[in-house]
Amino acid sequence: MALDSKVPKGSIKDKWTDYKNQINLVNPANKRHIDVIVVGTGLAGGSASATLAELGYNVKSFAYQDSPRRAHSIAAQGGINAAKNYQGDGDSTYRLFYDTVKGGDYRSREANVYRLAEVSANIIDQCVAQGVPFARDYGGLLDNRSFGGVLVSRTFYAKGQTGQQLLLGAYSAMNRQIARGKIEMFNRHEMLDVVIVDGKARGIIARNLVTGEIERHSAHAVVIASGGYGNVYFLSTNAMGSNVTAGWKVHKKGAYFANPCYTQIHPTCIPRSGDYQSKLTLMSESLRNDGRIWVPKNLEDVQAIRDGKLKPTDLTEDQRDYYLERRYPAFGNLVPRDVASRAAKERCDAGYGVNATGEAVYLDFAASFERYGKEQAKIQNISNPSAAKIKELGQEIVRAKYGNLFQMYEKIVDENPYETPMMIYPAVHYTMGGVWVDYNLMTTIPGCYAIGEANFSDHGANRLGASALMQGLADGYFVLPYTIGDYLANDIRTGKIATDSPEFDAAEKEVSERINFFINNKGTHSVDYYHKKLGKIMWDKCGMSRNEEGLKTAIEEISTLRKDFWENVNVPGTASEYNEQLAKAGMVADFLELGELFAKDALVREESAGGHFR
Ligand SMILES: Cc1cc2nc3c(=O)[nH]c(=O)nc-3n(C[C@H](O)[C@H](O)[C@H](O)COP(=O)(O)OP(=O)(O)OC[C@H]3O[C@@H](n4cnc5c(N)ncnc54)[C@H](O)[C@@H]3O)c2cc1C
Repeated sequence: MALDSKVPKGSIKDKWTDYKNQINLVNPANKRHIDVIVVGTGLAGGSASATLAELGYNVKSFAYQDSPRRAHSIAAQGGINAAKNYQGDGDSTYRLFYDTVKGGDYRSREANVYRLAEVSANIIDQCVAQGVPFARDYGGLLDNRSFGGVLVSRTFYAKGQTGQQLLLGAYSAMNRQIARGKIEMFNRHEMLDVVIVDGKARGIIARNLVTGEIERHSAHAVVIASGGYGNVYFLSTNAMGSNVTAGWKVHKKGAYFANPCYTQIHPTCIPRSGDYQSKLTLMSESLRNDGRIWVPKNLEDVQAIRDGKLKPTDLTEDQRDYYLERRYPAFGNLVPRDVASRAAKERCDAGYGVNATGEAVYLDFAASFERYGKEQAKIQNISNPSAAKIKELGQEIVRAKYGNLFQMYEKIVDENPYETPMMIYPAVHYTMGGVWVDYNLMTTIPGCYAIGEANFSDHGANRLGASALMQGLADGYFVLPYTIGDYLANDIRTGKIATDSPEFDAAEKEVSERINFFINNKGTHSVDYYHKKLGKIMWDKCGMSRNEEGLKTAIEEISTLRKDFWENVNVPGTASEYNEQLAKAGMVADFLELGELFAKDALVREESAGGHFR
C-alpha cells in the first residue's frame, strides 16, 4: 500500500487555514445521527470526547481506569508549551515549529508540526476558560518557564502537577456532556479489538473488566487515544497500566505502525534501586531550569563518594565537571532530552557514575539557592545576610516552584535534596512511534483515527519537553474535531451500525478464545515473569545503545520468549470477575509482538537518532 500523508498543498503557514476552509462539514442536525467511539480519556481522548460531544456527535468513551480522570496524563508534571510570547523573548509560531522539528532530529512531519504550533496558543485560552489554575506571576499574568532544546520561556505550568490540572479541565468538559447524555462513559472497559465492516472501522469489542463480559459497540468512526507503550521496557516512568493493546489491535487489522523504535529516554529520573522494582519515577525536566548537572572531575573522588568517604557537597567547584554547560554552552543544562540522556550515559559509561551501581549523575540546586537567596535578601532589605540566611531564602523560592517534586524525591530516596544534590539517571519515558496517521489523523484503516501519544506524527526521533500535553490537547480540542467531519460527512445517511454482523461475530469470537486460552493454560510462570524478561532484553539490546549484533539477538530472544509465554503462562482466577492478571496477560502478549517489530525497526535504522546510539 502506498502511504498518502494527505498533506494539503500550499505554503506551510497557510495549509491548515486553507484546509479548514475547504473540507466537508456535517451540519448540526446530522451530527445527532452519527456515533463516534473514543478509546482513551487522557488529555487526547478526553479533549476529543468533550469537543465531539459539544459539536453534537454521539460519543462513547472507553477507559480501563475507574474514572476518566485517572488516565496516565494525570502524571504529567512540568508543563505545556504554547507560542504566546508572553515573555517577549522572541518566541513565535515559527520558532515553536522550528524547535520541535529540530528537537525531533528532523524526522517529524513538518505540516503537522506547523499546525501544532499554530493551535498551541488556543489551547492555553481554552484551558484558562475551563479554570485550569496555571501558575501566575506577581502581577497576575500567566507565568512561563523553559524546557530543554529551546532558547525561550514558553512553558505554561501548574506547579509540578500540570497534567493533573489540565486533565481535570478536560474531565469537567466531559462530565458536562456525560450529564447531557452526549457522552456514554464506559469506565473499567478494555478495548480488545477493532471491527472492520466493508473496509471501514465500525466498532470495537470491549471487555467489562469488572464483570468479565465481552461487549460489542458500533460507531461510524473509532478514535484510538490510548497513550504510549513505554512499558514494553517493563521499567519506565509510565503509569503501570500504560500499554499498546488498542494501537496494536488496529495495527493487526491493517493500520500501519510508524517508527516503533523511537523511544524517549528522559535524563532526569530517579535511578533504579534494585531488582524488585516495578516503576521508575520522573523528576520533571522543569528542574533543569534551576538545577545544574555534574559529576566529579576525578575518578578518585567518584570512588570516594561511592565508598561513602566523601560527600558531593565536599567537592569544590573546580573538582566538578558540569559537563552539559561545558559541552553545550548555548543551551547549558537545558539541552534537549536525547542530548542530556546520551551525555549522562557517556559519563557513567566512562566510570563517573556517582551511586553504587555507577548509574547516576548529580542534579544540584545549590547555585540556585544562592542566586534566589541573594535576590530575596535585596528585595526584603536584609543587609549583610549570612550564608545560612541566603540559603534559607533561596530554598523558599525553589520550594514554591518545585516543592512537590522535592518531597517526592525525599520520600523515594530518603535523602533531603535541599541539603544534598539529587541523583538522576536516564529512563524510558515516552514513545514517539505509534500508529501511522495522515494529516487528518486517520490511520490506514478508513474511519479509524489515532491521536495523542498513540500516534507517531509530531515528534520525530525525540519529543521536546512539555510538547506531549500540547499535542494531545491540540489533537483533541482543535484538529480531530475538524478532520473527522470531513470523513463523517459521507455517513449522514448511513444510520446505526448493526452489531449482529458476521464481522462483529468473528471479532468477538477471536477475543473470547484468547481469554479462554489464558484462563485454561495453567502454565508455570506468571505474566510478570515474562514482562520482566522482555523488559530486560529491550533495555539491554534496544535501549539507548544499539548495535546490529545485539538487535539480531534481541529479535531471536523475543521470539523464543513469546513462544515460551504461549506455552507456559499462568493466569490465576476466572474470566468472569475482576482479574488484573488476565488483563495484563493480554497486554504482555501484545508487548511481546510489538517488541519484535521494535527491534526490527531499530535494526534497519543504521544511524544514531534521538536518544539512541548506533
Ligand atoms: C511521569 C510523566 C510526566 C510527564 N510530564 C509531562 C509534561 O510535563 N509535559 C508534557 O507535555 N508531557 C509530559 N509527559 C508525557 C504526557 O504525560 C503523555 O504523553 C500524555 O499525557 C499522553 O496522553 P494521552 O491522552 O495520549 O494518553 P494517556 O493519558 O496515557 O491516556 C490513555 C487512555 O487510554 C485508555 N486506554 C488505553 N488502552 C486502552 C484499551 N485497550 N481500552 C480502553 N482504554 C484504554 C486509558 O484508560 C486512558 O484513559 C509526562 C509523562 C510521564 C510518564
